[in-house]
Amino acid sequence: MAGELLDWYDRHARKLPWRVSPEERKAGQMPDPYRVWLSEIMLQQTTVAAVKAYYQKFTERWPTVGVIAQAEDAEVMAAWAGLGYYARARNLLKCARIVAGEHDGKFPETEAELMKLPGIGPYTAAAVAAIAFDQPATVLDGNVERVMARLDRVKEPLPKAKEHLRTLARTLTDDVRPGDYAQAVMDLGATVCTPRSPACGICPWSHHCQARVAGQAQSYPRRAVKTPKPVRYGVAYVVIREDGAVLLERRPDKGLLGGMLGWPGGEWREEIPVGKPPVEAEWRTPPAEVRHTFTHFHLRLSVRVGQVLAGVQPRIGAFYSSDEFAAGSLPTVMRKVWNLARH
Ligand code: SF4
Repeated sequence: MAGELLDWYDRHARKLPWRVSPEERKAGQMPDPYRVWLSEIMLQQTTVAAVKAYYQKFTERWPTVGVIAQAEDAEVMAAWAGLGYYARARNLLKCARIVAGEHDGKFPETEAELMKLPGIGPYTAAAVAAIAFDQPATVLDGNVERVMARLDRVKEPLPKAKEHLRTLARTLTDDVRPGDYAQAVMDLGATVCTPRSPACGICPWSHHCQARVAGQAQSYPRRAVKTPKPVRYGVAYVVIREDGAVLLERRPDKGLLGGMLGWPGGEWREEIPVGKPPVEAEWRTPPAEVRHTFTHFHLRLSVRVGQVLAGVQPRIGAFYSSDEFAAGSLPTVMRKVWNLARH
C-alpha cells in the first residue's frame, strides 16, 4: 500500500515552503531540521494557510536555531502574536536554547531524543524524525487519524480510538522512503480524504478502503459527543494617558496567553467578575463586548476605556508609549479589545 501512496505523492505532493520535493529528496537533498521543527511547532492546532506568513517572518528574521536561541523573549512573543497557543512560543525558545547550547546547534534525530526537548510531543517528534531525518517514525495527526479510521472502518469513537489508529498507521509506515511517506499520508488526509467530501474516486487507497466500499466514508472517524464549552466573563481596562501611552500588563509565563502583553483586567470566571480598575479614571463602556473562543471555553469581555493624566501611577502594569506599542504584538483577543476601545 505504501508504494501506491508514494506514486500518488510523487505527482501530487503539496508545495510548502518548509519542504523539499520528492524529486529533491530522491536526489539526496534533505530539508533543514530547524525549518521542519519550526513549521511543525507552528502547525500544531493551526492551519497551513495561517502558518505560512509567520513561517516566512520567523525564518527571515531568525534563519537558524542558533540565531533564534539568542533572541529576546519579548521579541519572539510579539512576532508570534496572533498565532495563538502561546505556550508554543515559550517552549520554542526553550527548545532552541537547548539545541544551540547543549547539542551544538543540531537537532537530535530520533523520536526518543526529540521528545526530551520542550514543546515536542509524540506527534512532533515523529514528524521531525521522519521528515528531517528519514526515520521510519509513525506520524498521527488529525488527517492521518481520519484516513486510518476510514481505511479500517474503525467503529470506536475518537479520542478513545487513538491507540488503535496509531497501531494501524504504524503497520503501514514505509521504511524505504519514510520522510516522503509521512508527508504523503498527511497530504492524502488534507487534500483527498477530507472531512466532509472525500474524493474517493481519485484516492490511491480506494481499493483498500472499507468505509468507501460500505459507502460510509463521511461517517468516519466516529467521535464521542462533545460537552458544550462553558462561558467565562471578564473585564478589560484600556487606559490611555494624555500623551497617547497605553497601560499594558505582561501575563504570567504559565497559563493562558502566558508571557504575552495584554490589557489589565483580572481573572476570567464563569460568574461576572468585579475586577478592581488599575487606575482611578472616568470609565467609558463601549456598547458591545468582545467575544473570543479558546480551546476550552468561550470568553465574553466587557471593555472599559479611561483617559488619565501624565504622572498617574497604575496599580499594575506599565505604560507603553505610542512608539513602543504595536497592536499587532498583542494576542488576538487583546487586539479585539483595542479595536472596540477605539470606536
Ligand atoms: Fe478516504 Fe475515500 Fe480514500 Fe477511503 S477511499 S481513504 S474514504 S479518500
